[in-house]
Amino acid sequence: MPEADIIIIGGGIAGAATAMYLSRLGHGVTLLERGEIAGEASGVNAGGLGGIGWGAVPDLTSYLTMGSLEEFKSLQMDNGYDIEFRQSGTLQAIHTLEQYEYARDRMLRLTSQGHSLELLTPREAMSIEPGANPQLPGYLYLPLRGQADPVKTTRAFASAAAGAGANVLTGQDVTAIVQTSDGGWQVRTSPPGTGGDFRSGALVLAAGAWCRPVGELLGINIPIVPVRGQMWATDSVPPRVFHTIGSVESPYDWGRQSDPGPGAPPELTHWGEVRLTRHLYGRQTKSGEIIFGGDRQMVDYNVTPDATGIEVNRGHASEVLPFLRDLPIARTWAGTMPFPLDGEPIIGKIPLRDNLYIVGGLASSGFGRGPMAGKLLAEYIHSGHRPTVLNDADPARCVSDTA
Ligand SMILES: Cc1cc2nc3c(=O)[nH]c(=O)nc-3n(C[C@H](O)[C@H](O)[C@H](O)COP(=O)(O)OP(=O)(O)OC[C@H]3O[C@@H](n4cnc5c(N)ncnc54)[C@H](O)[C@@H]3O)c2cc1C
Repeated sequence: MPEADIIIIGGGIAGAATAMYLSRLGHGVTLLERGEIAGEASGVNAGGLGGIGWGAVPDLTSYLTMGSLEEFKSLQMDNGYDIEFRQSGTLQAIHTLEQYEYARDRMLRLTSQGHSLELLTPREAMSIEPGANPQLPGYLYLPLRGQADPVKTTRAFASAAAGAGANVLTGQDVTAIVQTSDGGWQVRTSPPGTGGDFRSGALVLAAGAWCRPVGELLGINIPIVPVRGQMWATDSVPPRVFHTIGSVESPYDWGRQSDPGPGAPPELTHWGEVRLTRHLYGRQTKSGEIIFGGDRQMVDYNVTPDATGIEVNRGHASEVLPFLRDLPIARTWAGTMPFPLDGEPIIGKIPLRDNLYIVGGLASSGFGRGPMAGKLLAEYIHSGHRPTVLNDADPARCVSDTA
């Protein structure tokens, strides 16, 4: 039976990054992925990277976003992987005067805390993003934000992990997990014949939206629910979109809506079939496709795009970049995001079992936060001391026994 110091379940950005940092710290790592590396959310996302600066008092969000930005840069500039990283900045459109007041207050509050963002007039926005709509009241500009190719990045982390000695195995669907008498782990994968049994001292759950079913194999309840995110793309066109593009409409609406109630995480675009708001993110990829998405709907693990939602999103994007009205949709797709019920990431030790860890609940922004989430967890496992900044992500607050 192959033996590793640490087994990681899941080959998305969280698992691949954790594998790379643990291997670089000298640990023997086996990563088990049931499909391909980047086969789920980490490969189908929009490739937008968050970050508004560390701020005067860096918190978990600053660490995850700004720390990850450094890791993206390092992968491309120090390690030689072309992941199409670009610190392009983001423009967020403001559609109404009420949203303008909200955006101005947000900008004033965050800049007073040492963060980087500006309020632009339409004329200022058009001077850096010529396709922007001059009729809107204004734009928020977040200059530190970036973008990268999701598949290339996630596979680069897995490749760097393998380069540092990790055993990265695909086609390994974990179907049974048993704690051994010495406090280690025995993990069984299927299908029979190509699967196998693996042993390790410690176990890391990095199964994205599947953390809950994987947790059930251990008799624990991990409160992460699957949320469908869907996108559309134009054919490749010459360069026309230079930033990542968003809108303040959804944060404005979410700030005014009441709690969705038990069983639903915050900041969804739909409650059942009812639309609560329009969310927007998009960019132009290096290959020239203009891609946009935004909907976040609880439909279990269904990844068939909803045509109505795609049209609403296209209409929203066209309000910001009017030239999009003339570009047909060439393809659509969807993926499953791991939304924690309380809205906060779940990163650290699960105290209900010995030598059990999780890096999950990265929700709609796990591509841009996964690298630092993996790095912080790797440092925790390596040193045995929880980095203070992970206090707010402590699994003990929400992970429970199923019994
Ligand atoms: C349409 C869309 C757009 C998005 N846009 C952005 C964006 O612009 N910026 C951003 O930061 N984030 C974005 N996200 C969110 C981001 O993609 C996710 O938060 C992130 O990829 C989660 O990474 P993960 O590694 O936790 O999960 P995943 O990438 O889902 O990886 C989990 C892996 O675990 C594997 N697995 C599950 N069960 C088992 C098992 N039993 N055995 C073995 N392996 C198993 C799965 O096959 C999967 O590969 C978007 C997501 C979607 C769907």
